[in-house]
Amino acid sequence: MAMITGRTRGGAEWTPEFVTALDAQRCIGCGRCYKVCPRDVFTLVERVEMVEDADDFDEDDEMMVMTVQNALDCIGCKACAAVCPKQCHTHEAAAA
Ligand code: SF4
Ligand code: SF4
Repeated sequence: MAMITGRTRGGAEWTPEFVTALDAQRCIGCGRCYKVCPRDVFTLVERVEMVEDADDFDEDDEMMVMTVQNALDCIGCKACAAVCPKQCHTHEAAAA
């Protein structure tokens, strides 16, 4: 299966890895990924919005955490993963 690939200015081929998920339970809401992202991918939300099972709710869920708002705007640079102190992001190459 052919994957989406790009080229550096020097002509070398590279394979972008696009953000596919962000672990809201690990995220501390520091905003580093939001600041470094060159696209409009992330937004801050209350963690409680990300908790699927109400029985799992606790006081920590009242804090703000990052979430993937617009995954289709990602260019696969992985800058977000490079700056995240909690390894929250998951990335994958995508089929062309
Ligand atoms: S991989 Fe790059 S473009 Fe995609 S969300 Fe992370 S920083 Fe933004
Ligand atoms: S850099 Fe990591 S810990 Fe900080 S807001 Fe982004 S996902 Fe959360």
